[in-house]
Amino acid sequence: MIDSLPPLRDVIRSHDLRAKKSFGQNFLLDLNLTARIARAAGDLRGADVLEVGPGPGGLTRGLLAEGARRVLAIEKDTRCLPALAEISTAYPGRLQVIAGDALALDPLEHLTPPVKVVSNLPYNVGTELLIRWMTPATWPPFWDSLTLMFQREVAERIVARPGAKAYGRLALMVQWRANPQIVLSLPPEAFTPPPKVSSAVVHITRLAAPRFPADAATLERVVAAGFNQRRKMLRAALRGLHPQIEAMLLAAGIAPTARAEEIGLEAWCRLARALKGDSR
Ligand code: SAM
Repeated sequence: MIDSLPPLRDVIRSHDLRAKKSFGQNFLLDLNLTARIARAAGDLRGADVLEVGPGPGGLTRGLLAEGARRVLAIEKDTRCLPALAEISTAYPGRLQVIAGDALALDPLEHLTPPVKVVSNLPYNVGTELLIRWMTPATWPPFWDSLTLMFQREVAERIVARPGAKAYGRLALMVQWRANPQIVLSLPPEAFTPPPKVSSAVVHITRLAAPRFPADAATLERVVAAGFNQRRKMLRAALRGLHPQIEAMLLAAGIAPTARAEEIGLEAWCRLARALKGDSR
């Protein structure tokens, strides 16, 4: 037991929180597991935690029990609010719940640094938010770390290295400015109801500055073009980007006959700089 609140099965029964597909709901009911996910986020004492999609509050309880200074939780399903209010009462002044769509809300005014993001989200919302959190207008972003549940296949795309089948835009977008690591693997049965696929928790810590210099928009454009036609040689896949693309590739130390999945982050950054006329 991690707190004096009722077991999650009882919470779900008493508040009639049957999981709804339309909200992408697969709940974690094992409080030992939610405490492990909370611990995977590192030391939470002295940090504000942003949790998107608390549902009946299993992970929320783990975060509070593990010592988070404050938790700001955004939940779209208003049926969950009474259960979350009970957690607020058990942890006075430490849990703020905002009812709404995390894709449409800006929670920044409610958060005080350092901020850690910890969430078990519906998979489609999770990927969209990850992309937003990784591509802010300025770096460093508002968060120090992201600890997020993904379907296993997406988690593998985030941590993939050159040469791997899963290597592509997502790996490069995250690894350019952060360190991602798979910290926990979960079978479908860990959830109620079980999803069709396995899941994994990815812990991402941000770097103070990008690993290699490059203009973010140019890097995104060149990587997108390269992987959109990942089986083609780069001189063909990137033809639309520059009239002398072969010369640009050579200037960046990349063989024009190479394919996108063979090219490491540093070389992609060199190519982005060459295309931008930046000779650093
Ligand atoms: N975190 C809880 C847990 O681990 O048991 C619930 C996980 S469930 C996979 C996803 C939760 O996100 C649901 O409670 C759902 O209502 C909520 N949700 C879905 N889309 C959302 C959105 N756009 N904004 C905020 N919450 C959302």
